[in-house]
Amino acid sequence: MVEIDTIIREAKQYLPNLNEERVRAAYSFAHEAHKGQYRMDGSPYITHPLSLALILSRLHLDEETLIAALLHDVPEDTDAATLEDIEKLFGKKISFIVDGVTKLSKVKYHNNMAERQIESLKKFFLHSAHDLRIILIKLADRLHNMQTLEYFRKDKQLRIARETMEIYVPIANLLGIWEIKSQLEDLAFRYLYPKEFEQISHHMNRISSVHEEAIRKMVQRVEQALKENKISGHIEYRPKNLFGIFQKMISTEKRFEDMNDLLGFRVIVETSSECYQVLGLIHHLFRPKSGRIKDYIALPKVNGYQSLHTTVFGVDGIPTEFQIRTKAMHVSAEYGVAAHYFYKKKSSSKTKPLLERQSYWMQKVIDLQKEIKSNSDFIRNLKVDVFGDRIFVFTPKGDVFDLPDGATGVDFAYHIHSDLGDHGIRIYRNGIEYPITSNLKMGDTVEVIASSKQILPPREWLEKVKTNLAKRKIKEALKKQSKLKQYHEGIKFMKKLLCLYGLGEFEALSAEQKNRLIETFQMKNWHDFLEHVGGGIVSQAEIIEFLHLPQSILGKPHHNKVDYSPLSNVHYRKVEGELIKLSNVKSTTYYRVPLEIQTKNRVGLLRDLSIYLADLGVNIYQIHVQNDPISKQSTIHLIIEVVDLNQLQNVFDSIEAVEGVLQMKRIHP
Ligand code: MN
Repeated sequence: MVEIDTIIREAKQYLPNLNEERVRAAYSFAHEAHKGQYRMDGSPYITHPLSLALILSRLHLDEETLIAALLHDVPEDTDAATLEDIEKLFGKKISFIVDGVTKLSKVKYHNNMAERQIESLKKFFLHSAHDLRIILIKLADRLHNMQTLEYFRKDKQLRIARETMEIYVPIANLLGIWEIKSQLEDLAFRYLYPKEFEQISHHMNRISSVHEEAIRKMVQRVEQALKENKISGHIEYRPKNLFGIFQKMISTEKRFEDMNDLLGFRVIVETSSECYQVLGLIHHLFRPKSGRIKDYIALPKVNGYQSLHTTVFGVDGIPTEFQIRTKAMHVSAEYGVAAHYFYKKKSSSKTKPLLERQSYWMQKVIDLQKEIKSNSDFIRNLKVDVFGDRIFVFTPKGDVFDLPDGATGVDFAYHIHSDLGDHGIRIYRNGIEYPITSNLKMGDTVEVIASSKQILPPREWLEKVKTNLAKRKIKEALKKQSKLKQYHEGIKFMKKLLCLYGLGEFEALSAEQKNRLIETFQMKNWHDFLEHVGGGIVSQAEIIEFLHLPQSILGKPHHNKVDYSPLSNVHYRKVEGELIKLSNVKSTTYYRVPLEIQTKNRVGLLRDLSIYLADLGVNIYQIHVQNDPISKQSTIHLIIEVVDLNQLQNVFDSIEAVEGVLQMKRIHP
């Protein structure tokens, strides 16, 4: 059992001026309040707040955080004291933190988060935007609860594990606290995918023992090289994050046996120039794998992470990853935002960029709240704009913009300037011309070509952009056009949509279908509905959803007969980049959808088409090409396999971005 003495000893190592009396007072207070209460594992309740304080002391957090952690469950779980009492005894700051933690405890998560739950989650984010220590305590709270999850009922275990994966892991990632993030991930992994967890951890243990000798040799050789070059630093063998391996297996569709760089080392030195020097030394010792060198020192990750990564063929040719970083980078990487409290007195200048980044994210949360009215949209946007994977994109002058993964040229243009967005027509991506709606990739240099002839952004863009900013700007621009123009745009949009999905002629829409749309979107009449479509108020996905049943578009379902039992034989499929959807993978249902695509006849078109589809994880079941020598055009008949409507929509967006594609539609053969 954790003792208060241990925590005080730990804390004094980095807080020489710790007010020991105050910490002990908080402990006695909590101890008294929780008397007679027990945890699920049968231990006295006080072990829980003590464990939190211990976790937080390992992150080198300040005195107030440790005290608040000790008190965090008192107002909520006991009748011993209210928040006011805590304020009187320990001060306003501490009661504010305890209050923030208590509020989040009231947020109960279910598979489908109800409005009320989303509302409290939103409150929590706003509350903690004022004091990040609230989130840190909550993360420690969750970590300890996950560590003792085995004593819970099975359905509760699953719910808590899923909630951890969906809410707390992204938060830890956002704050750059790798240590907590990977622990939470692996703990949740164990409950969500028990079989896979078992197998991967078994494999990993085996690898460490089989390659013990090779690991020892590699450490030796690198240490020797450091010594010869008079670089003071140390190297450590790094056990890999199990869930990280699982994720990689899914994204690369590889079996465990085919995974690269299962061995990992970390070299920690003093200065960043030494990092580059060590990279050279390692490449001299071991042959590097091409394309696997990443310089996150010159180009840090969005959460501030800095390091050099390289994969080499190590001793016995075993693929091995090295991470090379300075001490300061190491502390930031492990402790993230918590490092700020650790470094506060020592050197404020070094940690400033990291801190600015984090407060920038918090500012984004607050901005989102101002802009977005609906709660579920708030969470969705939060996921994309704040928690989602980010990419860096450059202007030709070298300015960096960070955008969510999947952002298009339109998003980029609007982030530079709303005028450039409104009038943008094409982009040059790394010097090659692409449609402005095509997706951008990490590291692209993008130039936007604008034309004054384009007065308004096209209505379709709304369905293609990823960022909230671009959506808002497009809607603002569309609103400026006259009602009549909106009405005509609405008709144009509907015609195109119906044709694309093979849903028949616009003129042939039945009165019943029209009425359904009018009622669903609470419009006055059909004219009113079309006006709103043209004005960007009603989205394509919504129209499709209510106009037709998905089955009538997708056709008859097929079932995948892949045997998912032994992990080593499984090829996972990544569904839309979202991992949590994997639970569905075991019962994959898919649909064969026939498409007809008109294209220019150019070299490499089919290759590009299949690359775009493969990127989406979409299989081509059948393909047939017909060339017309006179018009130099081709008609491609394609049957693709998609898992749902959403994926079909992504297919349409992607195909449209392939150079040379003139027109496409879903057909009924
Ligand atoms: Mn708690």
